[in-house]
Amino acid sequence: MMAQYLALKAEATDCLLFYRMGDFFEMFFDDARIAAAVLDIALTARGEHDGVPIPMCGVPVHAADAYLARLIKAGHRVAIAEQTESPADAKKRSGKTLVSRAIVRVVTAGTLTEEALLDARTANWCVAIGEAAGGVAVAAADISTGRFELIECDAASLGAELARLAPAETIASEATAFAETATMLRPRTDFDSGRGETRLKALYDVATLDGFGQFGRAALAAAGGLVAYLDHTAKGAIPFLRPPRLAQTTQQMAIDAATRESLELTQTTNGARKGSLLDAVDRTVTAAGARLLAADIGAPLMDRGRIEARLDLVTLLAEDSGLREALRGTLRSMADIGRALGRLAAGRGSPRDLGQLRDGLDGAWRLGERLGKIEQPPALLDELAPALRGHGALIDLLTRALVASPPIDASDGGYIAPGYDAALDDLRDAGAGGRRAIAALEADYRDRTGVTALKIRHNGVLGYHIEVPARFGDALMKPDSGFTHRQTMAGAIRFNAPELHEVALKVTQAGAHALAAEAAHLEDLIEAALAKREAVAATADALARLDVAAGLAERATEGGWARPALVDHACFDIVGGRHPVVEDALAKRGERFVANDCRLSEDSRLWLVTGPNMGGKSTFLRQNAAIAVLAQAGSYVPATAATLGLVDRLFSRVGASDNLARGRSTFMVEMVETAAILAQATPRSFVILDEVGRGTSTYDGLAIAWAVVEAIHEDNRCRCLFATHYHELTRLAERCDALTLHHVRAREWKGELVLLHEVSEGPADRSYGLAVARLAGLPPATIARAKSVLSKLEAGRAKTGGLAAGLDDLPLFAAAIEVAEEQCDAIRAEVETLDVDALTPREALETLYRLKALTRE
Ligand code: ATP
Repeated sequence: MMAQYLALKAEATDCLLFYRMGDFFEMFFDDARIAAAVLDIALTARGEHDGVPIPMCGVPVHAADAYLARLIKAGHRVAIAEQTESPADAKKRSGKTLVSRAIVRVVTAGTLTEEALLDARTANWCVAIGEAAGGVAVAAADISTGRFELIECDAASLGAELARLAPAETIASEATAFAETATMLRPRTDFDSGRGETRLKALYDVATLDGFGQFGRAALAAAGGLVAYLDHTAKGAIPFLRPPRLAQTTQQMAIDAATRESLELTQTTNGARKGSLLDAVDRTVTAAGARLLAADIGAPLMDRGRIEARLDLVTLLAEDSGLREALRGTLRSMADIGRALGRLAAGRGSPRDLGQLRDGLDGAWRLGERLGKIEQPPALLDELAPALRGHGALIDLLTRALVASPPIDASDGGYIAPGYDAALDDLRDAGAGGRRAIAALEADYRDRTGVTALKIRHNGVLGYHIEVPARFGDALMKPDSGFTHRQTMAGAIRFNAPELHEVALKVTQAGAHALAAEAAHLEDLIEAALAKREAVAATADALARLDVAAGLAERATEGGWARPALVDHACFDIVGGRHPVVEDALAKRGERFVANDCRLSEDSRLWLVTGPNMGGKSTFLRQNAAIAVLAQAGSYVPATAATLGLVDRLFSRVGASDNLARGRSTFMVEMVETAAILAQATPRSFVILDEVGRGTSTYDGLAIAWAVVEAIHEDNRCRCLFATHYHELTRLAERCDALTLHHVRAREWKGELVLLHEVSEGPADRSYGLAVARLAGLPPATIARAKSVLSKLEAGRAKTGGLAAGLDDLPLFAAAIEVAEEQCDAIRAEVETLDVDALTPREALETLYRLKALTRE
């Protein structure tokens, strides 16, 4: 057995091996040590290997899911070795009792389908990175629902895509530059684009992939790597994968990883869903709806038509509360048919999954009927309708075939409905008749023997048998009694009898036949459901889309949100905007959120926001970024009115965040992110920058902030909110015509600081930093000392003309560049006319002096 174990373990060196032994999965050696520690179960020892006891631990098969979940969460992968024959077969085959075993599956974080192991409201992406012909692509599969996406990007936007998907598992070729982003490296040959194409064709049984889209070589490489990996973990039984959908990054608002994190779109900086924008918006009632909303918010659209189509559906449901309630009521009671289908397709389906499918499809049908009555339905509803009412035959089959609530465990039968199969009904009748006959026999035996305590019982060893208390045993022991002695227990004696044997045989045979008949039906039903899997998956999608729209309509109604108006020009005009997360947090404390306008236009596209600490600058910046995301995801927005031109790229650089894990200091992270913004923001982008330059010395910081504002104003020309404590920057308003000044208001009242959280025009008068520090509880002595330092500093500033004295003389950003270029031109002209070979040494020296003088002009 150990030899067999070690051979299997050699196939799964990067996994813990669950080795099936009867009702347990056992682990040995280091696997046992690791698992015992993670699972907090007893580590025992058994036998010897090389003279040392073998460490061992085990988990019962029936509870394996819960243990698996903990091992996977702790970052392990588990290979499952099952018995592939019965002990009897093993004996027949080899005369020995060692049954053969094989690894039937490798359980990894990215390839789960079990309900117990997955978070219902989060997609579970397994992602592969492919490279070919200078391009990069990501292949992403959620095998719990069969979703399969291919995203062609470039090396620079790879991080953004991975941040959007937040994969459970990332694989890459061992020969790639992206190895460090991967959680698992696979052989390079798996990522060959030619092989990838062949693999996809074989998987979908098609001669060409053109029907699915035009895939570049990198996409084929990524898809090939992913399919090979899924094949490896499922040991050849590739799970359900829908045809790949090609997603172009240009169809989405580009949001890089840093921005995503700082805006806390779908999770907070510490990884929780609670407290994220998604959490504040989500009113979906199904898990599939929650997953789709997370995907929508993670990838806002760039296509106005598609956004308007989503918004039209939300409007319909926002305006008709009766319809919305009915829709949400039906959806709420529905099971997750996408994941039920995923389990069935992965060969891990149960009768209950079929029951869920039946009820879900039936619910979809009824929804379809209700929605079909709407006059002048919005286009998106028309698009969804056929998917809702497409499964009449399958619903009918499952309704006839299954009992009302089929069990998860098929082994005891009882899930096929009476009346579905006459032969099965007969077997069940025979079984029931037999059980009645046994009851009659029991009464008869009691009469015959006069022992009223006589009982007919059933157990696994003896089958049906007669049992009497020990003191009545003698009467039945007599040779002519008709009973045969089987077993003497402490207080009871057990017998058999020919009539009982005969009836019992009928009962057990009928039972076994009935079970086999049910199992055969189960297989057929699963096959019938899987034959329609594409269409069932489309229904699941349609239901999720309806749930998202109804949830957004509910949220909008609840919060008094407005439908955003999308326009062509690059404006961003928000009236009475709010931050849903901060607003919720304040509401819990009984406080009111102060709504603020943000009216960026052609001639006021860069707002410089100043104001006291804690005044609400960051909140104001983020709420507007959130509004852009929500609007383009097809949601109403937390504002009284909103008009905006589509945002192609969203950037947020908020607060200082260390990334020590990647070996970068706070200031380095800040500069890297700012550099990305300056390099990529276009006139259609929306940028929020909070206190850029804060992470270094005052002069360096101010100089950098100054230059960044100028660059954004002159070069990027994007819409931008720039919050800062450098009041000196307000001088830029005089020179940058599209830059305007704003501040969050505060007052000092009876020596107390009152923050009004109101954004108004003009610069702030001061920072109130000391007042906030006092509020925060800095010791009075320290505050007093800080005050005297401050007055010294301010006096010094007044004498020298202030920190920014002299900056007014600086040429503007663009002008500065022009000057530098003129200089270059003059030097270039001088050099071009030089005939180097004709120069005397003295002339050469003079030329050098002249050139040097030119650089000083
Ligand atoms: P700092 O300069 O110190 O970073 P800040 O000006 O960026 O501060 P925020 O972090 O945006 O300030 O806000 C501080 C707190 O003020 C928030 O946590 C919130 O409780 C409250 N606040 C912010 N905006 C509003 C608002 N519009 N209405 C009500 N309360 C608000």
